[in-house]
Amino acid sequence: MQGAYVAMFKRLVMLLAIMLVSLLLVGCDAAPRDSDENTANIVATVFPLYDWTRVILGSNPGNLTATYLLESGVDLHNYTPSVRDVALISTSDLFLWVGGKSDTWVLNAMANPQNQYRRNVPVMRMLSIHETQIFPIDGVIPGDVGGEDCCGGTTHDEHVWLSLPFAKRFVERIRDEIIILDPENEEYYNTNAAAYITALDDLHRQFSQMVELAARQTILVVDRFPFLYMTIDYNLEFLSAFDGCFAATEISMQRQAELANAVNNLNLDAIMIIDNHPVANAVSYAAGRELQVIELQDFQSISRYHIQQGMTFLQGMQQNLEALSAALN
Ligand SMILES: [Zn+2]
Repeated sequence: MQGAYVAMFKRLVMLLAIMLVSLLLVGCDAAPRDSDENTANIVATVFPLYDWTRVILGSNPGNLTATYLLESGVDLHNYTPSVRDVALISTSDLFLWVGGKSDTWVLNAMANPQNQYRRNVPVMRMLSIHETQIFPIDGVIPGDVGGEDCCGGTTHDEHVWLSLPFAKRFVERIRDEIIILDPENEEYYNTNAAAYITALDDLHRQFSQMVELAARQTILVVDRFPFLYMTIDYNLEFLSAFDGCFAATEISMQRQAELANAVNNLNLDAIMIIDNHPVANAVSYAAGRELQVIELQDFQSISRYHIQQGMTFLQGMQQNLEALSAALN
């Protein structure tokens, strides 16, 4: 019952935010948005969608604006939009989002857009129901996935950006959307996207070759597990402390012991984490031997600071290739 009140409260807050935004924007209607007619606003929720957008925009000859909504670095599963975020979404020309379980807030934020011509692209909806994976959670009935009008695929794994073949398709789609906004620079965007897709293909090949030659085929992740698509792409087996990202709070002593046993049974020399070092150390201790602790990048809490430090999707996936290679050999 308490959950229902919380949900109602969240809806009320969202409704108030939308009303406030509408009021704020009433006075701006008459003013031209920008002197440059080509200028359009693109808003992306998660880092990979933003990063692909800026790659395709390149030196940005059409003077488009790309905004990364989660730049504070807040974990995407804990994100709630601010009034400013709702305003950005409301006035955007292109809104890029994932379309999974963590994006249920989007439906409220998208209501009554100030820009009625806005295009919405929930990339997960580009995939068929057979391509998205139902995370093995006992007793959960699969949600509805597939078709861009559909929202609320609550049981399908939403970490679709961690698949390089999916990433390639998303990049192609973002390229096409940008060309719709700025057709004058079509050739330039096509060139940028083509070079990037070559780099994605190349990295995908490197992953496949590395796994093919690896001594082991199993990884053990002592953390949340958003890497389902990555393991499927390369036929890797995995064990993880949690199913997906939800319910990731603490790992019980019993679970730590189970993971330590698994490490020893599989004769692994390394365990993988996202950022849960204390538990990794505890599992290493329980296993009775020094295990290498290797970090994987999931792009779920990339901040403005990381971007200033040069963070890119390609760099993060390159890091994952090296991490997997170290863990599997
Ligand atoms: Zn996640």
